[in-house]
Amino acid sequence: DEQIERHDYDVVVIGAGGAGLRAAIEARLQGKRTAIISKSLFGKAHTVMAEGGCAASMGNANPNDNWQVHYRDTMRGGKFLNNWRMAELHAKEAPDRVWELETYGALFDRTTDGKISQRNFGGHTYPRLAHVGDRTGLELIRTLQQKVVSLQQEDLAETGDAESRIRVFHECTITELFTTDGAISGCFGYFRGDGRFVRFDAPAIVLATGGVGKSYSVTSNSWEYTGDGHALALRAGATLINMEFLQFHPTGMVWPPSVRGLLVTESVRGDGGVLRNTDGKRFMFEYVPDVFKEQYATSEEEGDRWYTDPDNNRRPPELLPRDEVARAINSEVKAGRGTEHGGVFLDVSTRLKPEEILKRLPSMHHQFKELADVDITKEPMEVGPTCHYVMGGVEVEPDTAMSKVPGLFAAGEVAGGMHGSNRLGGNSLSDLLVFGRRAGLHAAQHADAGRPAVAESDVAAALERAMLPFSSATEGGENPFVVQQELQKTMHELVGIIRKGDEMELALKKLEDIATRTRTVSVEGHRRFNPGWHLALDLRNMLLVALCTGKAALERQESRGGHTRDDFPVMDSDWRHLLLVCRAIGEDDVELTRQEQLPMRSDLFDLFEMDELKKYYTGDELGGHRADSA
Ligand code: FAD
Repeated sequence: DEQIERHDYDVVVIGAGGAGLRAAIEARLQGKRTAIISKSLFGKAHTVMAEGGCAASMGNANPNDNWQVHYRDTMRGGKFLNNWRMAELHAKEAPDRVWELETYGALFDRTTDGKISQRNFGGHTYPRLAHVGDRTGLELIRTLQQKVVSLQQEDLAETGDAESRIRVFHECTITELFTTDGAISGCFGYFRGDGRFVRFDAPAIVLATGGVGKSYSVTSNSWEYTGDGHALALRAGATLINMEFLQFHPTGMVWPPSVRGLLVTESVRGDGGVLRNTDGKRFMFEYVPDVFKEQYATSEEEGDRWYTDPDNNRRPPELLPRDEVARAINSEVKAGRGTEHGGVFLDVSTRLKPEEILKRLPSMHHQFKELADVDITKEPMEVGPTCHYVMGGVEVEPDTAMSKVPGLFAAGEVAGGMHGSNRLGGNSLSDLLVFGRRAGLHAAQHADAGRPAVAESDVAAALERAMLPFSSATEGGENPFVVQQELQKTMHELVGIIRKGDEMELALKKLEDIATRTRTVSVEGHRRFNPGWHLALDLRNMLLVALCTGKAALERQESRGGHTRDDFPVMDSDWRHLLLVCRAIGEDDVELTRQEQLPMRSDLFDLFEMDELKKYYTGDELGGHRADSA
């Protein structure tokens, strides 16, 4: 009989990135016994890789900034498909979350008068990203971990046991959530190192598992990001929304092959980097969409002047939202004006002095020097789009972060709604803090409502499923690495940055076949550190997520944010108010339904000019809103 380690907690947080840590801190501050679980080593989450900064309208660099401006930028970035309540909470609470981080010990870069420095970023009207050079995520994680340790020290002093109220379980992958009468009761997983199984019994679970990038062959995401939280939520009965919206970051490294997809931070453009094709042309001026025409410079001279005189000039088009820049680069490369490695040139050396570059972009300099032998103080970088961020995720109540399953919460990249069809750079780190805190708080409150017991038969079933790749039922099945590659290739080529109906239909057919193959992947050896086995279990999740993206992308017949259809190239107001909702059917299929978006509250609606709203809303909706506010 298999031994299964057992732990009991009030709140279990799955994921130790910014969202997970902030949630766990809050649950512990509410006096709850809290576990933090992470698939990778503690301290190694995507959040660490965030370079540019954390968006919050503190108004340090430009006093005209405030939550309303941030709110407007966020809604515009998301093309008005965002959950407006989440965007409102985010814009209002982000500054407090940044200041609070300082009280935990974060050391942000400073303005000359000693305030937290804020930098420009695509889609943000004012300089708004609090940052620590280009290593902001590292500082965020360092600070949150330090806070966890300081809380553990308090607990040590009080109870004699540092782990009495908050404990970290790392290199532990959760493969199953348990529900009892429809409410969360616990979860199940294994430790990567020795393969031992573990169950956590808890009435409240926060999913903070990050993204899904590993479903694509070119991605900035690392090995852990197989959409586990998305799939766990689906299988537990929760819903996902917006899964058709994936952000392809415009600038990933395209060369050498070993680092293809690795991110080149947007701060390179925020700090003056320009994009050129192989003809030497600064092509972004050709790609400013109508909805943004008034906010962007029409000549190189004006764009250049903006860096020193932003009040009297419009910003350069290199700072358009990410989806626009990614599509532009994609078009240039397709038109044969890209480099031999399928990228374009991004140059910061012509505008900044070498000392400045080393000070502002130290890790970019290091990354290019070490990995590509390019000195960015002298030469341009070669860049192209890479799968970066998923806007879609668990459908949650905006204020509490709770999903449709009582006791199941989601925050950070795994949650959907906040960013609509496209996320602005810098809005993720602030999202993690704002909604991580909210999820932790409400999970703590939920834990007071009682403890459903885990059904032992569910534990046995979870164990059996985890062992399936070793069993005789799958013997002679395929190697999980082969199936994963097939899945990544399918998504990359057929549901990638530019999409077509017939290609996506083909993708869905291929996914059916991949589903069959996934059910029977087989692995050899033992449970002790066995990457093949780990991947076999991850594959189920990647598949489910890919199905959600494929089905939703086929259904949405328009182009908006992180969803571009070659066969439906324009944004269509009739689609703005529709959310595509995914539910699991059985183990490895999903069904898709349409759901009406709640209309924006009228005081928020009134923050926009009617002329702007007309670009996004239908005439009927605008009429209705006018009647509302009257
Ligand atoms: P993550 O930080 O991704 O953490 C997820 C956690 O979940 C990890 O601990 C992982 O081990 C764990 N986990 C996953 N699955 C399981 C499982 N099955 N069981 C147990 N644990 C699990 N955003 C910005 O706002 N500004 C930026 O400048 C910026 N730069 C970026 C640069 C790069 C290179 C990348 C990749 C992203 C960047 N982003 C940026 C986006 C941002 O970093 C991420 O969206 C964000 O960090 C996600 O945080 P999270 O807390 O949701 O999850």
